[in-house]
Amino acid sequence: MKIACPHCKKESEWSKDNIFRPFCSERCKMIDLGEWANESKVIPGTPSIEAFESIDELGENDGIPPDDRLH
Ligand SMILES: [Zn+2]
Repeated sequence: MKIACPHCKKESEWSKDNIFRPFCSERCKMIDLGEWANESKVIPGTPSIEAFESIDELGENDGIPPDDRLH
């Protein structure tokens, strides 16, 4: 049985040996999964990269409260 790869539309054999099915290759599978992760199918409430970066910045002031740094 032949199936068309969802990513590149190339025909590939549907078999138990093809661990990347329905994709034709690991490359097509990873590209498709990557697109899924990068598109707007993000789980609501997931912290953004920016949130993680501000946590890092807070850790660099040696525990000095922001109010004391102003004086
Ligand atoms: Zn493919």
